[in-house]
Amino acid sequence: MSVKILLIEDEEKIARFTELELVHEGYEVEKAADGRTGLSMAESGAYDLILLDIMLPELSGMEVLRRLRKTSQVPVIMLTARDAVMDKVSGLDMGADDYITKPFAIEELLARIRVALKKAVKTDAPARSDQENRLVYGQLSMDTARHTVTYGDTAIDLTKREFLLLRTLLENKSIVMSRDTLLERVWGYDYMGETNVVDVYVYYLRSKIDDVFGEKIIHTVRGIGYVIKDK
Ligand code: CA
Repeated sequence: MSVKILLIEDEEKIARFTELELVHEGYEVEKAADGRTGLSMAESGAYDLILLDIMLPELSGMEVLRRLRKTSQVPVIMLTARDAVMDKVSGLDMGADDYITKPFAIEELLARIRVALKKAVKTDAPARSDQENRLVYGQLSMDTARHTVTYGDTAIDLTKREFLLLRTLLENKSIVMSRDTLLERVWGYDYMGETNVVDVYVYYLRSKIDDVFGEKIIHTVRGIGYVIKDK
């Protein structure tokens, strides 16, 4: 089975040249020319590795990375402009596996791709147990790797946003999360929509979980936000 690479790069010349070289090397390549498209393609989980430019229209590479890392550990190599030291540092901080400075020699890129893929196989293979990917609250259980939620034996169907909200609350059990914090973690700091979106999504979650299974899981803390209390 061939290795699938997603190339998120808005400069058409670089994108086309890189694609040609990667395909020549035997990789399967798909391209996105802006951050938003790139992120949704990357979130599909269909790729073995992501090449991510930083200066992108719609959503910056940093923001794509930040959002992607909430749900995926796919290897990411950042494509940075020459001497953009800050970009490299924050890229690595935010969970990029490596970076390469443009313009790059294709041989160097190929070498870095091989290293990143090898590293990913090592950390993925037998090591990560099911336990590590599981967030549990009584009967409620979330598998963060498989993106599934169950209550007892019953599967609960959540949207991506509902899943992220529940995950954030479960990861911070017994900590009261303010609306602002939830908004930032689940919707991103540049979210421009209604601020009551958090309340709306808590309502969705309650109607899918608390109401169905007759257990109060998400508690409202008046004037502050929400919490899943520790059992
Ligand atoms: Ca660019």
